[in-house]
Amino acid sequence: MELFKSMDNLNNKKDPQKANLVETEQVKCLIIGSGPAGYTAAIYASRANLKPVLYEGLQPGGQLTTTTEVENYPGYPEGVTGPVLMEDLKRQAKRFGTDVRWGIATSADLSNHPYKITIDDKNIIEAKTVIIATGASAKYLGLEAEKKYAGMGVSACATCDGFFYKGKDIAVVGGGDTAAEEAIYLAGLCNKVYIIVRKNYMRASKTMLAKVEKTPNIEILYEHNTKDLFGEDGVEGAILIKKMGTPDEEKVKINIHGFFLAIGHHPNSDIFSNWLERDDVGYIKTIPGTSKTNLPGVFACGDVQDPHYRQAITAAGSGCIAALDAERFLSSL
Ligand code: NDP
Repeated sequence: MELFKSMDNLNNKKDPQKANLVETEQVKCLIIGSGPAGYTAAIYASRANLKPVLYEGLQPGGQLTTTTEVENYPGYPEGVTGPVLMEDLKRQAKRFGTDVRWGIATSADLSNHPYKITIDDKNIIEAKTVIIATGASAKYLGLEAEKKYAGMGVSACATCDGFFYKGKDIAVVGGGDTAAEEAIYLAGLCNKVYIIVRKNYMRASKTMLAKVEKTPNIEILYEHNTKDLFGEDGVEGAILIKKMGTPDEEKVKINIHGFFLAIGHHPNSDIFSNWLERDDVGYIKTIPGTSKTNLPGVFACGDVQDPHYRQAITAAGSGCIAALDAERFLSSL
């Protein structure tokens, strides 16, 4: 803290006017986010000469940079690692002139067109079109072990990583539709799937629940909470607490190689909450079949508007749609 204070003082001494300088810049197309949606929007927008400026955000490259092997993205028959795929997309966007910048959109004023987005609490971008591709973050339980075994048994995406657990025993945490869907998917690959549910019922839809109950290699562990994970070079098991906080509380150990989180996602849309229509969870609402939000010239693509599919390829497709929508909007001005 002291260090920052003294550096501030130093800057102020050097050039007192510069210390609080706010820069405003006008752009035709601002893209916020650097996952598959953001970069695909950038490739299309730059090829259409919209001269896009893209801010990478908190996690440059998006969620894929936290996965290892990606085997279901078309065009990579041998598979590709998440970071390499994102680097390829970035290079492709830059090749056509996208101005890729490091920075985080910290607030938004969408009350008038052109729209104002503040970057890093400092610089203001005035944009004729805004493409929001800020993604969603998977929720984690908050255990130290989740960090320790990230990419070594802990995953928040069954379709991305399930294949690596073929024939093994795994667990899915959560009681919603995602947990049910992922458990059914994993049951087709794995030997045994536990679903760890903290309540005595699953909140998943009746249809999904019926499918889960019909799948012979799924076992639902109701009223179980995860306390810890263990293993030498990766996950080998989990310690659960059954009926936590009751007189019947009991410690349960299960042997598993994969631990899949399915306890919901948080779409990164909070800075737009005053301006854009969102659903109860925070996903930005778009007009079906388009990327259009309730504001003309503001488009959303990728996971920030998609609670259902959440795949790299669907995000990329929606990024393309957003760039085409932005191009059409600009030519109508
Ligand atoms: P939900 O918010 O519906 O469910 C999250 C689940 O995780 C709940 O069962 C919740 O438990 C549990 N949970 C949350 N925090 C913890 C914790 N700390 N420890 C243990 N368990 C926890 O999220 P989903 O991702 O399942 O679904 C999001 C939306 O997407 C829903 O509207 C869903 O219907 C929809 N969806 C639809 C699909 C389809 O139709 N095919 C597929 C996937 C999603 P609790 O119940 O106790 O609160």
